[in-house]
Amino acid sequence: MLQFVRLEQQTPEKRDSAARRSDFGEIYADFQPPQAAAQASRCSQCGVPFCQVHCPLSNNIPDWLKLTAEGRLEEAYEVSSATNNFPEICGRICPQDRLCEGNCVIEKGFESVTIGAVERYITDTAFEKGWVKPIHPVRERAESISIIGAGPGGLAAAEELRRRGYQVHVYDRHDRVGGLLIYGIPNFKLEKEIVLRRWRLMEESGIVFHLSTEIGRDVSLEQLRARHAAVLVATGVYKPREIGGPGIGLPGIVAALDYLTASNRAGLGDAVPGFADGTLDAKGKNVVVIGGGDTAMDCVRTAVRQGATSVKCLYRRDKANMPGSMREVKNAEEEGVEFVWLAAPEAFIGTAEGADHVTGVRAVRMHLGLPDASGRQSVEPIDGSHFTVPADLVIKALGFDPEDMPAALAAPDVGVTRWGTLKVGQKTFMTNLPGVFAAGDIVRGASLVVWAIRDGRDAAQQIHAYVQQATAAVAAE
Ligand code: FAD
Ligand code: SF4
Ligand code: SF4
Repeated sequence: MLQFVRLEQQTPEKRDSAARRSDFGEIYADFQPPQAAAQASRCSQCGVPFCQVHCPLSNNIPDWLKLTAEGRLEEAYEVSSATNNFPEICGRICPQDRLCEGNCVIEKGFESVTIGAVERYITDTAFEKGWVKPIHPVRERAESISIIGAGPGGLAAAEELRRRGYQVHVYDRHDRVGGLLIYGIPNFKLEKEIVLRRWRLMEESGIVFHLSTEIGRDVSLEQLRARHAAVLVATGVYKPREIGGPGIGLPGIVAALDYLTASNRAGLGDAVPGFADGTLDAKGKNVVVIGGGDTAMDCVRTAVRQGATSVKCLYRRDKANMPGSMREVKNAEEEGVEFVWLAAPEAFIGTAEGADHVTGVRAVRMHLGLPDASGRQSVEPIDGSHFTVPADLVIKALGFDPEDMPAALAAPDVGVTRWGTLKVGQKTFMTNLPGVFAAGDIVRGASLVVWAIRDGRDAAQQIHAYVQQATAAVAAE
């Protein structure tokens, strides 16, 4: 260990940007065994590992780095999978620069340990070697638990409950398992086979999936409560934040998730209407994406790969104040995306009066003003600085809010916060409805995969305690 003084940081090889633009394959190659061991050996085995402190799952990073450096990969896998249900997914898509790696103490003066890449390598190797096995609970329990939503939060909870022997039923309105892992996040960040192999494993573990089933429409929450000992709501947030301005209703202006879902479905071999008629395909178009978060980055990079003529990202603040990961901005720039910083759309221009398609975005230059109460600088338009960007396809990527949850779940009594997220007990994860728990984005608001996993694990523990208590109370009667 401590090889950071001798060995430079080396990330897995990144494909050339020209090659990346022509397909949807992941952009990073796999670590080779000697390279992974060498990179893991750069860790200085800190007494207080800040990497672990800043990992939402409190992963035991120094231990699995040491085991990797020593070539003890099966043990490294055991340690890594003890705190994380999907390490190979987090290793690929966590914003490590803001979490573990951004807090690695050797970063000052030396580049951080490549924690994410090693984490991915350990579990990819474990799958290859057959060390990743379906769950066989030590004892089966009679009680069943239902989970609404097969995203990372719901799936992590499903695994943890199955491990404890519960009969686990997961309901999702989509036809595939994964939530945003399958239909939101593009293949070039997370290849779909990685998600599909987890789905197969969970089925082999005895978790039952009820797909294409929407709770609140096909089955009511009350029916689930009657059938199961507890219910977990992990439905994510899907209502796109809207943008105003004249011409916003023009054809050719689409929501980010509609666009990304169509692209992901096409990649999975589905017949996608928006592809057949070209409405959700960027090929040969001037594309303008509005927004500065990770969803916007996924849209611009998807458009590049679809063969757009030009791809511009309009963001009202500057690069330093962008919410998206800097790593993703860099990748997008390398792939030929043009960023128009400090620019906000004001109107959308169409082909003619009563126009039938968008042709451009009229924008205004912004400048950063004084910080507001939250410390964030305000943005103000600069008078007379209007300009027009040609556009055949405009993608709105301004973030997501929760749907109207009492209506969506057909559960008028369920408690929500003033942001519309489900209200839960801080430690119990239970809503105001007895036996109904909630976790992931629907509680936090739009967040990260790693936080959804954390919440799913914690909620599973609380559900277990609740069911055991309820069973003991019945037995005592
Ligand atoms: P979701 O993943 O949203 O899953 C919820 C599931 O519930 C869905 O499958 C949905 O179909 C289902 N559902 C909803 N309502 C019902 C109902 N009534 N009945 C049945 N099923 C229902 N995070 C990262 O860490 N790294 C990234 O790189 C990253 N990139 C992202 C890119 C995009 C485009 C987006 C939109 C998000 C990204 N995120 C990323 C955020 C991350 O995907 C989410 O924080 C995470 O998926 C939340 O998990 P979840 O389980 O709470 O919800
Ligand atoms: Fe880093 Fe995410 Fe892995 Fe935690 S789960 S160690 S934050 S990559
Ligand atoms: Fe190793 Fe960096 Fe974590 Fe310290 S902070 S234990 S050097 S990975």
